[in-house]
Amino acid sequence: MTTPILSVRDVRRSYGRGDDRFDALKGVSFDVAAGESLAIIGKSGSGKSTLMHVLALLDAPTSGDIDLEGVDTRTLKGRALDETRNRTFGFVFQQFFLTAGTSVLDNVTLPLTIAGVPRRERRRRGLAVLEQLELADKAGNRANDLSGGQKQRTVIARALINDPRIIFADEPTGNLDTATGAVVEDILFDLNREHGITLIIVTHDEDLAARCDRRLHIRDGLLVDDTRAVAA
Ligand code: ADP
Ligand code: MG
Repeated sequence: MTTPILSVRDVRRSYGRGDDRFDALKGVSFDVAAGESLAIIGKSGSGKSTLMHVLALLDAPTSGDIDLEGVDTRTLKGRALDETRNRTFGFVFQQFFLTAGTSVLDNVTLPLTIAGVPRRERRRRGLAVLEQLELADKAGNRANDLSGGQKQRTVIARALINDPRIIFADEPTGNLDTATGAVVEDILFDLNREHGITLIIVTHDEDLAARCDRRLHIRDGLLVDDTRAVAA
């Protein structure tokens, strides 16, 4: 069997201490195969965002192991951790996290700026992903002046700039109308199918979850169901 892209073993995450301690994840284990599309579903407060944050190495579990392509992520610290995250993951969150007064191109190339990539190279790669998302004509616009759908496509362009192995999306269509949300979904699933990018999506949206290869149902910090789509 090939090494899973992510391997999660008995992961727990507690917030606060003593009487204020709250166990948001109570021991969760599963593997993610490279190229899979995975929905994390469950009620509000069940621990979905907490799980996504630890999977994306934005937060460390209180206990348990997360291996990324066979590497124990606890061995990654500081700069090595930042570089791994930057190189391996793309993020598409509901609140767009764009810098409003800054150009679309500069927003999209921010991960390259952080990585110290020279300006010319940033511009070349930025325009290429904007082209891919049919936003090249908006490169010089301020992010603020885009529609909701254009903003989310800009966020996807930024997520793609480093050629990620995994895209993490937390309610990616939550702020979009149905038609615009459908376009964003189609883009994400195209990236999954055509580029083999692993998709991990937190969603309340049943239809979006149903489009994924697999659904992980989280309830009160526990994995209660792990369902695979039946091949059509
Ligand atoms: P979901 O994304 O499924 O809505 P979360 O993972 O955001 O759930 O939160 C799970 C639980 O952990 C909730 O009860 C929430 O209030 C609590 N929680 C989340 N973040 C924190 C935090 N930083 N401090 C304390 N409690 C938190
Ligand atoms: Mg959440």
